[in-house]
Amino acid sequence: MQTSFTPAQLADPHVAESEKILRKCVHCGFCTATCPTYVTLGNELDSPRGRIYLIKDMLENGRAADRETVLHIDRCLSCLACMTTCPSGVNYMHLVDHARAHIEQTYKRPLPDRFIRALLAFVLPYPSRFRAALKLARFGRPFSGLLEKVAGLRPLSAMLKLAPAAVPPASKMALPGSHAPDGERRGRVAILTGCAQPVLDPGINEATISLLNRLGVEVIVPEGEGCCGALVHHMGREEQALASARKNVDAWTRQIGQGGLDAIIITASGCGTTIKDYGFMLRLDPAYAQKAARVSALAKDVTEYLATLDLPQPAIAPGLTVAYHSACSMQHGQKITRQPKELLTRAGFVVREPREGHLCCGSAGTYNIMQPEISAKLRDRKVKNISATGAALVATGNIGCITQIASAAKLPVVHTVELLDWAYGGAQPRQLQ
Ligand code: SF4
Ligand code: SF4
Repeated sequence: MQTSFTPAQLADPHVAESEKILRKCVHCGFCTATCPTYVTLGNELDSPRGRIYLIKDMLENGRAADRETVLHIDRCLSCLACMTTCPSGVNYMHLVDHARAHIEQTYKRPLPDRFIRALLAFVLPYPSRFRAALKLARFGRPFSGLLEKVAGLRPLSAMLKLAPAAVPPASKMALPGSHAPDGERRGRVAILTGCAQPVLDPGINEATISLLNRLGVEVIVPEGEGCCGALVHHMGREEQALASARKNVDAWTRQIGQGGLDAIIITASGCGTTIKDYGFMLRLDPAYAQKAARVSALAKDVTEYLATLDLPQPAIAPGLTVAYHSACSMQHGQKITRQPKELLTRAGFVVREPREGHLCCGSAGTYNIMQPEISAKLRDRKVKNISATGAALVATGNIGCITQIASAAKLPVVHTVELLDWAYGGAQPRQLQ
């Protein structure tokens, strides 16, 4: 695609990066067929190619974001299916991230939208605030039907509906410290405890730590780590996202200095995609660029790391049929497609893959709150495809997908690592008890 940025515009490194990306697009439109919003809404402006044109126009003319551009960029799930499909290697992720930051800086959203975004950015990245909010949601739930009737407040209604009826107690295993391996040490890793996941389902990190310890791996919960920044990054709140990234880079760099790390283990693929991008996000910060690149190189999804270990024979023969849902951040963001299925098969599960596996379930960070109508359509389509497999349960590697699919599916939805931990001698996942 031809571009016409001026040298003055290209002096901005963010614009220069986006210009490089735009020039790679050859308008072929292959990406439209796999874009969930295009498939759902049928509007070219809700396709990757349409959004690329909107972003190009906005950036090239150096203008503030307008209502139409914001509407169609907001509807993008950042699922990155378009990147998997694109034959020209267009890095849509970096382009849309730049567009979102530009929107945040130049566009004044309506008041309810600003309020809900500020609320999400204040609550979600902090486990104690998130836990308190979930407990309060119990009192708000009776009003969710009322809130749904007011267009600007529908996200609040969606939030209340997604909140679980009970909040599990915080896990002691999430406290900073070291979890020593059983027997001889074969490795040393840090684990990202995360923000929303340990509140919604502390059992995921507990299963990860227990399994890795039994396999001879020491697991460190580093002091000072926190939310990866993905939630605010996808809202265009760049400074907040970069502050989270720097905090984590510092926490993990200290651990690298103190005893070395073989990997930084991530159990939510949405976080994994962002942490693997820290090197890019902090490339312009001389104090952090190198450290961030090292952290990104060490970041591994738990299944990616497990696939590098010598695994023993499973302790039980579960024999259950599992529908494996590959989160977009897993398959499109990190290109991890093989390992989770191979690990489950090796552990004794029969793995089935739902049709249209490339399509997002509609969770996408805060998307199911901000865009509840499109999100519900995608969720129902996903659940229908999962049900058609005839599986007894669903396995996936991202807490957002677990919450989204479980809100409509009749089957238990379990994190992949919880099934692996069970098969290799750990506790049976609570959803199966
Ligand atoms: S990230 Fe997903 S929703 Fe957004 S344009 Fe690409 S395929 Fe469509
Ligand atoms: S598939 Fe790639 S090159 Fe083709 S229109 Fe989409 S982004 Fe552009």
